[in-house]
Amino acid sequence: MFKTIEQHVRKQVAPAALRAEFRQHEFESMRPFCLLVFCVSILIWLVFDLLVSFLGGQGFTWRSYLFIALLGCLTVVLYFTRRSQHFDVLNLLFVATITLGLRLVIDGIPVALRPVWLILGVSTVLYAVSVLPVRQWSFFCTMVITWLVLNPLYHTRIAPDELEGTMLISYAVFVSGLVTYSYLQMRQAKLHNFYLSKVLLEQAYVDALTEIPNRRSFMAKADHQLRLATAGQYLAMVDIDNFKRVNDRFGHDVGDEVLKRVALHIQASMVGYEIARLGGEEFAIFFHGLDQQGAEQRVAALCQRVRDDIGEHAVTISIGLARVDPGDSLTTALVRADQALYEAKHGGKDRFVLWSSQLVDQD
Ligand code: GH3
Ligand code: MG
Ligand code: MG
Repeated sequence: MFKTIEQHVRKQVAPAALRAEFRQHEFESMRPFCLLVFCVSILIWLVFDLLVSFLGGQGFTWRSYLFIALLGCLTVVLYFTRRSQHFDVLNLLFVATITLGLRLVIDGIPVALRPVWLILGVSTVLYAVSVLPVRQWSFFCTMVITWLVLNPLYHTRIAPDELEGTMLISYAVFVSGLVTYSYLQMRQAKLHNFYLSKVLLEQAYVDALTEIPNRRSFMAKADHQLRLATAGQYLAMVDIDNFKRVNDRFGHDVGDEVLKRVALHIQASMVGYEIARLGGEEFAIFFHGLDQQGAEQRVAALCQRVRDDIGEHAVTISIGLARVDPGDSLTTALVRADQALYEAKHGGKDRFVLWSSQLVDQD
């Protein structure tokens, strides 16, 4: 089953908006890792700079301070960066700076050792960038900058047509291909996983027939509202009157159309509040920031709206309304709204009833 859905999703091309959402989501979740990569890179560069400066006898010059300051500034900027497209540029600047810094360090060691260290530098930078949440253009620009600045044939007295030069070029091609392939594959896999989980989550929280939130979604959102404990919370339970008759007379398909129509009315008249189809022909609404009069007006208006919809297969609805007091659980609120709904049905349907403790005493 999972395989079937997965294959179905894999065949679809993720829309541009979803790709942008994915990039932002990925950057947000990987921001601490990006910061870690920046900090560790600076640290490694500094260790090598100190080694070459003191053991190599090059001296720790103002240029080292300059690079530390620049890299430090870029890391601070990353700390405050919130948009993924800004990171694409920031990472490029960081790579340009650190590769220049690396070149500076490597130029301080004997010529014979330089090609190996340049290649090691390129491989490390490319690998690190391939696991960062950057877009393709940024990744390929990074690759070009890295090879240009840390070119192992520049300043190393190696000719491209000699053995060592040819080996270096072959290795460069191999390493670039490998890193590019793993970068592209990983991005694709991550995008698909994001798309898949989004599709499945949507399916899990949306009612397939009416396309409004389902019970699971309602329970989670209403529970969240309850925890916020804002003033003026009310829960309404809506039930279509004599719905079984609609099904029996006109068939299930017509029943489904009626369900969709009622859902549209609820959706249109309850903007800003949590709504859901709880199951069958029952819906729920969670109000907040209303006084009793406000809540009553809204449910009365909904009854009126459905009543006034006198197209084909007209129906009416009954509503049970319950105030949610601080400390009440969602279950308590649902039970009370259900008791009020029962009362509305018994009172003749096509109306709303507000729950009060007398309702329970009467029963
Ligand atoms: P009352 O006025 O007391 O609410 O009576 P009612 O007929 O509306 O209530 P009852 O609970 O007897 O019937 C509900 C019906 O809703 C029974 C079931 O077949 C139908 N139903 C439940 N889910 C669906 C659905 O998804 N589509 C359709 N067409 N009918 C559904
Ligand atoms: Mg019912
Ligand atoms: Mg009913």
